[in-house]
Amino acid sequence: MSDCIFCKIIDGDIPSTKVYEDDKIYVFKDIYPKAPVHLLMIPKRHITSLAEVTADDADLMGYMLTKVPQIALQVGCEKGFRTIINTGADGGQEVYHIHIHILGGGGPLPF
Ligand code: AMP
Ligand code: ZN
Repeated sequence: MSDCIFCKIIDGDIPSTKVYEDDKIYVFKDIYPKAPVHLLMIPKRHITSLAEVTADDADLMGYMLTKVPQIALQVGCEKGFRTIINTGADGGQEVYHIHIHILGGGGPLPF
């Protein structure tokens, strides 16, 4: 998607602080962190939102969830973390490329 900022981040056209990357996903630091650890995990394949996910995406979605705890552990969230997927206007989604927020790293989250 040529006008998608997260696709541009994957392509390196917009700078980001990369934490992890493989052939399927890209993980980077949220630019406005709401916790000491605030990462965004995105699939390299553009999917607009959780509301648009189909059966064809099941393997990729499962893969992302299996990577979340591995990456959270690597960045110091061994006592826990929070995952959030905002979906659609009422869900507070601002960027329409599906992403999993990973938050934690500073003790119990205050929100
Ligand atoms: P959401 O409201 O779930 O769509 O979250 C979008 C998130 O993307 C917000 O937490 C933003 O701070 C974050 N964000 C937007 N632009 C960038 C960027 N260029 N680099 C890193 N994070 C970004
Ligand atoms: Zn995209």
